[in-house]
Amino acid sequence: MPLYEYRCLSCQQKVGVRLSYAEYDTAKPKCPLCGSPQLKRLISRVRIAKSEEARMESLADPSSFGDLDENDPRSMARAMRKMGAEMGEDLGPEFSDVVDRLEAGESPDSIEQALPPEGGAGDGAPDMGDF
Ligand SMILES: [Zn+2]
Repeated sequence: MPLYEYRCLSCQQKVGVRLSYAEYDTAKPKCPLCGSPQLKRLISRVRIAKSEEARMESLADPSSFGDLDENDPRSMARAMRKMGAEMGEDLGPEFSDVVDRLEAGESPDSIEQALPPEGGAGDGAPDMGDF
């Protein structure tokens, strides 16, 4: 059940009330702190939470990758770029390097072999054991 935020006009506290979507239109929630029915909806926060939820859903939805063809490196590169953009994070130079090579038509297997092994004795990676 979604949590809606209200401002209680009696005790001036911000309170959270759990309501189902169906209840939200008709419910007359009471302040959980003082029992007053004079609650004012705080809409903006709910909207933000909802759009955040929708964003995560679109990430989790495989159909958002629509035309992904695992045998087509360019198709994979497109999907990876889209994923990277939706995460809104910098996925590092290695990520964009892989995407670039996929777009150039290189097979994922050969790219994987060219990458440094994970957790291996790296080139310049900090290793406390050397101290
Ligand atoms: Zn109250």
